Amino acid sequence: MAVPARRTSKTRKRKRRTHFKLSVPGMIECSNCGEMKLSHRVCKACGSYNGKEVISE
Ligand SMILES: [Zn+2]
Repeated sequence: MAVPARRTSKTRKRKRRTHFKLSVPGMIECSNCGEMKLSHRVCKACGSYNGKEVISE
């Protein structure tokens, strides 16, 4: 098995890790009520998804 020739420096390690960051959840505006909601999820405010009401109260 290959073994690294030298130890990765703190700087190198940190520079590599600049590329992995927390991703922001996909927030979009609800087409029904205009409230901010997660995409591909039922709207929390009006209970609609894809133009139809899914949750009834
Ligand atoms: Zn909505």
